[in-house]
Amino acid sequence: MPEAPRQRGRFAPSPSGPLHAGSLLAALGSWLIARQAGAEWLLRIEDIDPPREQPGAAAGQLATLAAFGLLHDGPVEYQSRREALYRDALGHLLARGKAFECHCSRRDLAVAGGIHRCCVARSRRADPSIRLRVADGCMIEFEDAICGTIRQRVDLDVGDFVLRRSDGLWAYQLAVVVDDAAQGITEVVRGADLLDSTPRQILLQRALALPTPRHAHLPLLLDEDGRKLSKSSAALPVDASAPLATLTRLWACLGQAPLSATASVEEFLQQALRSFVLARVPASVLPTHAAAHNADSAIRA
Ligand code: GLU
Repeated sequence: MPEAPRQRGRFAPSPSGPLHAGSLLAALGSWLIARQAGAEWLLRIEDIDPPREQPGAAAGQLATLAAFGLLHDGPVEYQSRREALYRDALGHLLARGKAFECHCSRRDLAVAGGIHRCCVARSRRADPSIRLRVADGCMIEFEDAICGTIRQRVDLDVGDFVLRRSDGLWAYQLAVVVDDAAQGITEVVRGADLLDSTPRQILLQRALALPTPRHAHLPLLLDEDGRKLSKSSAALPVDASAPLATLTRLWACLGQAPLSATASVEEFLQQALRSFVLARVPASVLPTHAAAHNADSAIRA
């Protein structure tokens, strides 16, 4: 009998600053789900957007994860070293007419709310972007292990989306899909701020004939004013010198029953692995918000 495919999770931070509680929650949640299933847990630094990166941030993030006992398998991957894979995937889509060169500017698209359905460029540009063609009526539906059934009309809510930007940088959507497949990721567990990116990623997986992993989108942490903690805002970095207090807080955010007192991070995580119940994690969905990766919406069915 052929061997069942290995389960594999991952944490994929962008090195735009130190890890704050929201990103650590995503790390802890994906670690728990992977480890409880006996799966591997990989680490990938998503450093494909140099203008948004902070020198030393990736090293700081690795040190923070280690201080919190969230140890990964295998070598750390860096997206900045994987450009050849993105180029191949883009070539594949272009050759099959699934992607196209677009000369539209933001201004050209402003009348359609930034949503691209057909090229309305007033002139050709030297630096066109490349977009994925999204068919009319394109509806993507998937089951999220925490948020339930999610549906999105990608043509109406997002439109033809960018795969390579006009400044030559790779879009998050393309890089994440190519890497998740190349690394054999079967469990994508991340913050609910990325829920509205998932339909685009599923569409890309289909266009590239890649498998779609299972998804679980974790609740977002809000600051005192009810705003989402964002990596690029002034959200405070987590205090790696007092990891137990932070882990206890994050554990509660995951809706889990309190653990008995522990003296070390390792003991806490062992107990957490024995007690974690996915069904207790609260679903958190932002009905509409400006995502960092595009402005669109995902509708919880
Ligand atoms: N690099 C993305 C971020 O930090 C996360 C990507 C993902 O988990 O799919 O927002």
